[in-house]
Amino acid sequence: MTDNKTWTREEILTIYNKPLMELIYDAAQVHRLHHDPLKIQVSKLISIKTGGCPEDCGYCPQAARYHTNIEKNNLMPVDEVLAKAEAAKATGSSRVCMGAAWRNVQDGEDFDQVIEMVKGLSAMNMEICCTLGMVTENQATRLAEAGLHYYNHNIDTSEEYYKEVISTRGFNDRIKTLENVRKSSLKVCSGGIIGMGETVNDRIGMLMGLLKLSSAPESIPINALVPVEGTPLEEQEIVPIWDVIRMIATTRIVFPKSTVRLSAGRMQMSKEGQALCFMAGASSIFAGDKLLTTPNPGDNEDMQLFNLLGLTPTEKIKDNTGKVKIRKDQPILETVTDEKWSRPSHIIERNIKATEKGKELRKKLKQ
Ligand code: SF4
Repeated sequence: MTDNKTWTREEILTIYNKPLMELIYDAAQVHRLHHDPLKIQVSKLISIKTGGCPEDCGYCPQAARYHTNIEKNNLMPVDEVLAKAEAAKATGSSRVCMGAAWRNVQDGEDFDQVIEMVKGLSAMNMEICCTLGMVTENQATRLAEAGLHYYNHNIDTSEEYYKEVISTRGFNDRIKTLENVRKSSLKVCSGGIIGMGETVNDRIGMLMGLLKLSSAPESIPINALVPVEGTPLEEQEIVPIWDVIRMIATTRIVFPKSTVRLSAGRMQMSKEGQALCFMAGASSIFAGDKLLTTPNPGDNEDMQLFNLLGLTPTEKIKDNTGKVKIRKDQPILETVTDEKWSRPSHIIERNIKATEKGKELRKKLKQ
């Protein structure tokens, strides 16, 4: 199986529906052809700006309109980000992903601060990824020039089901951002979330969406929804581990060379379940006891699991025991700010209900 294969929806569905043991076996074989099955990349997710997001993503506790228990924070100072990355590096992470709860990147002070973070991290010989919302090609290029390696922007689900989850931007904006990222020298990180009430067809549709990009994403996170109180999807049942394994295995077979990341929802998974995900082709996890805002197993717990399974974290790119140096300033490109991002504003009943509930709760809290 190669990256050049053209997949049909039916072929992917047939893979997804294989007897589970056959599916895991097939995926494990593909995995071994392209990856070291005993290595796991440990990635540290740092929420550099938490909460207060103007979007209405139905799964997200960071959307300002819903009332959730998260602690909002302004953009983190550069030093604090670098210190967190140093600490993560010391406990085995070789990758840092910085997440900001923004609709899109806006040129100005905050973006300049993120550029400084990227420069600082690039001196630490770690793989660096950012997830900052929609970006223009010039913004992506600035990030690449500062030393960023990957840009994350998940397509979340199928184009059809996307309309049932988010109304403040269109699926096409996701694709446009990913193509902007692709036009810069950054690598693309994009995947989805399962357990949001989507059908199996939507899960396959998500993979078809990734296949439609000009080239396959180098990195594909597969998240299991963590239903958070106050969000429109708070009542969703936890997605069965078997579905997560199927999704990981199918993704591994369809995208043999990409890094498949077992992302959110690991607290809901048994160790045995996670082990089957690694067998089925997941080669990366996110570390730390919090994933942006939702709980995640701690570093020790992960290391114990790795020891048990005979897995080792991927080494850092190269050892760097010296102090972090900020890269010299590079010429700033003329930025394009006229990218037109959509705002479909169609009605999603459960998002509206959660918004109303959020308003009422905030009113009560003020009284
Ligand atoms: S997923 Fe991102 S864009 Fe959507 S509400 Fe959360 S922080 Fe905002």
